[in-house]
Amino acid sequence: MKFDVLTLFPETINNACDFSIIKRALTEKRIEINTINPRDFSKDKHKKVDDTPYGGGAGMLLSCQPYLDALNSIKKENKTKTIIMSPQGEIFNQEMAKNFANEEQLIIICGHYEGFDERIIEKSNAQEISIGDFVLTGGEFPALCIIDSVTRLLKGVLGDDESAEYDSHYDGLLEHPHYTKPREYENLNVPEILLSGNHEKIREWRRLQQFLVTKKKRPDLFLKFLNSNLSEYDKKILKKNNLF
Ligand code: SAM
Repeated sequence: MKFDVLTLFPETINNACDFSIIKRALTEKRIEINTINPRDFSKDKHKKVDDTPYGGGAGMLLSCQPYLDALNSIKKENKTKTIIMSPQGEIFNQEMAKNFANEEQLIIICGHYEGFDERIIEKSNAQEISIGDFVLTGGEFPALCIIDSVTRLLKGVLGDDESAEYDSHYDGLLEHPHYTKPREYENLNVPEILLSGNHEKIREWRRLQQFLVTKKKRPDLFLKFLNSNLSEYDKKILKKNNLF
């Protein structure tokens, strides 16, 4: 999968992707990340990319010409999605990450300063995406969140022992608790069932923990899960534990 990131600060993207699983995905050519700097497309003699807002007000706004010319310079694949990072957008979630992972190319437009001239949003036809109800200085960290969460869903990126489908949010629930060595740490013991070697019982215990953890930490998600199309297996565990 190809990520094309429009950014005034390409180092932020390139440096952050030079580690761990994302770097491995790049080296194995499972993903490609290109950065395109709108400044390189500016027709202004000083390579300006921003200007003061009409009507007055604080800050500098990103100008149409360098951003839209930079966007138009990108060669499109057959399945391309264009998104624009904005605190006014739809809030990003795992479901969107799964959908984006089905694309061949994701074009991500990062803003900065006071944000975009509105016509960039209109002309780009991009979906506005936010990573939460707070404001950052730029769209690079949101873009990195999206690149990271989408990449780890791509086939072959995670090893068999680190599958994404058991993670929180994959099927609408949070993940069950985990334990590693030692068996006892300062009077806190690993639950006996995990030492039993009974794989079926462990599976059931983990599923129950997912229900309990989600009910406690994210009752909104648990309610949504209860109202979804439940499997017979889940119904049985929910009923047995008076959760349904
Ligand atoms: N003036 C804009 C507003 O109030 O809606 C905020 C501009 S913000 C300081 C600069 C850029 O950072 C935005 O154009 C966007 O690309 C990015 N950004 C900031 N917060 C974000 C968020 N929560 N999600 C996604 N992008 C964000």
